[in-house]
Amino acid sequence: MAKGVWIVAEQRDGALRKVSFELASAARKLADQLGEEVGAVLCGSGVEAMAAELAKYGVDKVYVADNAALEPYTTDAHATAVAKIVKENDPAILFLGASAQGKDLSASLVGKLATGMATDCTDVKIADGKLCAIRPMYAGKCFGEIVIDAFPQMASLRPNVFPIVECAKAGAVVKFDAGLGEAKTKVAEVLKEAAGKIDVAEANVIVSGGRGMKGPEGYAILEELAGLLGAAVGASRAAVDAGWRPQADQVGQTGKVVSPNLYIACGISGAIQHLAGMSSSKYIVAINKDAEAPIFARADYGIVDDLFKVVPALTQEVKKLLA
Ligand SMILES: Cc1cc2nc3c(=O)[nH]c(=O)nc-3n(C[C@H](O)[C@H](O)[C@H](O)COP(=O)(O)OP(=O)(O)OC[C@H]3O[C@@H](n4cnc5c(N)ncnc54)[C@H](O)[C@@H]3O)c2cc1C
Repeated sequence: MAKGVWIVAEQRDGALRKVSFELASAARKLADQLGEEVGAVLCGSGVEAMAAELAKYGVDKVYVADNAALEPYTTDAHATAVAKIVKENDPAILFLGASAQGKDLSASLVGKLATGMATDCTDVKIADGKLCAIRPMYAGKCFGEIVIDAFPQMASLRPNVFPIVECAKAGAVVKFDAGLGEAKTKVAEVLKEAAGKIDVAEANVIVSGGRGMKGPEGYAILEELAGLLGAAVGASRAAVDAGWRPQADQVGQTGKVVSPNLYIACGISGAIQHLAGMSSSKYIVAINKDAEAPIFARADYGIVDDLFKVVPALTQEVKKLLA
């Protein structure tokens, strides 16, 4: 019988990604309710040393595939390795991050495991002994509860939503053979973000600008505020389509889904497609000169004024606080 709550841990450039700890903490909570163990699959090259860190977040057993062919990440190599160890051990639940890599991997994995999956979940619980995954639907207008009638019950969890809880375990390490045949995919080149740039998908604070920024140079005031707050700079699709900001910064239905602690929306009207990407932020601050802008209906704090007045004033106040 399928047993255990498993996660697929994510690592890049020699370090575990934050989402791995979120997955481990969520898995631990459910495993305690079921009286079962938490397992983690960790794939890559030279990754064994990272396994111990996962135990700090409640992982009982880390299944490590350490193989040069698993670095850099490719869908087929990682999906082959994860599917192999999952089939051998038959966990009841399998979580991945709803991150770029997790989304890519889960699409292939769900096929290899011939199961069902709930994507981009913002909550998970156990109901009648089964996983019940909760996810936003219709661009966040309502929430659906998904129960999967196959094993493993798979779900991808939205980054930055699930709290990280430290809970030290002994954390046994089990090495396994990834079972890779001849590589079907070869990575020709990895294009990296500029050094030091914070990815909006992982940021705790985002200062975002829309068409109200008037042009690419308008973003200088957002960059300054973001620099002080240790924030990423995001953008609406209108700003990206106008060529003011790179596509990687776009927040929304066709951009990135973000869940920071603080989202400051400047000159963004709050179209449903934008809200779909940021409405699970903990606190939303909107700065817009139009008091009727829909963003105010979702904002925790709203400032109705010209952003070119408000943002520099805010920056000065933050400077005073940091002095
Ligand atoms: C299939 C589909 C997918 C989409 N996906 C996305 C997506 O992923 N992300 C996304 O963002 N959009 C997406 N859109 C587009 C979306 O519908 C909106 O067109 C877009 O979000 C509008 O961007 P905006 O708020 O920056 O611009 P606008 O709607 O033009 O709003 C600009 C706002 O700035 C305010 N403003 C102007 N000047 C100032 C000032 N000086 N001070 C203060 N406020 C000022 C105005 O009052 C206004 O509210 C999608 C649309 C479709 C059809």
